[in-house]
Amino acid sequence: MTDRIDKRRVYLDHNATAPVRPQVIESMASVMSHVGNPSSVHAEGREARRLVEEARSSVAALVGAEPRSVVFTSGATEAANWALSPTTHLTGGRADTRLCLMSAVEHPAVRGGHRFHPALVGEIPVTAQGALDIDAFRLLLDDAEGEVRDGSIIVAVMAANNETGVVQPAEDVAEIVRSRGHIMLCDAVQVAGRLPIDMGATAFDMVTLSAHKIGGPAGIGALVFGPDERVTAEPFLRGGGQEQSRRGGTENIAGIVGFGVAAALAREEAGQVCKISVLRDSLEEGLATISPDVTIYGAEAVRLPNTTCFTAPGLNAETAVIAFDLAGMAVSSGAACSSGKVAPSHVLRAMGVDAETARGAIRVSLGWNSSRADIDAFLAVWQDMRMRSGAAADGVHAA
Ligand code: PLP
Repeated sequence: MTDRIDKRRVYLDHNATAPVRPQVIESMASVMSHVGNPSSVHAEGREARRLVEEARSSVAALVGAEPRSVVFTSGATEAANWALSPTTHLTGGRADTRLCLMSAVEHPAVRGGHRFHPALVGEIPVTAQGALDIDAFRLLLDDAEGEVRDGSIIVAVMAANNETGVVQPAEDVAEIVRSRGHIMLCDAVQVAGRLPIDMGATAFDMVTLSAHKIGGPAGIGALVFGPDERVTAEPFLRGGGQEQSRRGGTENIAGIVGFGVAAALAREEAGQVCKISVLRDSLEEGLATISPDVTIYGAEAVRLPNTTCFTAPGLNAETAVIAFDLAGMAVSSGAACSSGKVAPSHVLRAMGVDAETARGAIRVSLGWNSSRADIDAFLAVWQDMRMRSGAAADGVHAA
């Protein structure tokens, strides 16, 4: 089953998607040979229901939620599209949510505010280290409250950024949001399985999750509601009464089961972040030794234990990613590629990095199968690249 992971390659792009864990593949293969619709009353249907509910409990445990509060979706993008709507409101409270505020470094799955008119979406700035500016947030919230008067505001702040790994003060933001009677959505996609999350101990109203970032399959995720369920999100996908009539469509049973197995394994690992942070720290020490002029974005902020986003003078990320690929390793550039145009990362731009420098950012992200040998291989290629670029630059100077 593990043969599909090419052992000659070094995969250092877990924040984009993690390799599917062998146990996940096995569980999904066995479920796919089982017939049954979880809504059917016969034995096959009841077995399918049992598998779905077992996975729901496992996903709930990953984030300290109640199983009934986990609603499976096709991924975190759908979950965010569902949650970010003026029809999402406080249960039994103010019917309309009038405005949406979000950090300037949200993932495109959240950015833009979806079903809110763009004029009703405000951006909260971040510091040069990439963490949300909490004082600026308080001021924006004061202004927003002045505008909406008797309506609610939905605030979306991710738990940690996918490009820099910077951990956001999302829990503090949620406390403020709740104390002022508004709604809090947290994109926990990159934190799940990397740092412990306990929804019971936070004021998050809704959290989005994605299976493929934790070694599960792509195409499955969840919107998880806080234990007090103080928010009602009107269904985005209407259909049969699946998922307690919150999300229509026959359940993706194999995907859900794979998500459940990945969540159980990721939960064990979230308690042992030390191993991965030791690898990441040695990667950063190696980078700094080889090129003392390297800049690590968010280095002074609290970061995920698995992510390094860096640049060095003269580095062109697009060329570097290709060079790493040819050398047998997968890393990402910090640039966002859409419609054939490579734009500088909005995350780095929000941190005040100029467009040209932002185009030179490389992201390395580790995960469940990363090893010391991967770090050594990466540093060897980096050393080679820097030597060549130094030699090329010397050539230019000599000419
Ligand atoms: N949020 C973050 C922070 C992500 O990194 C991603 C994945 O790229 C998403 C949301 C979207 O997740 P999905 O691919 O499940 O829609």
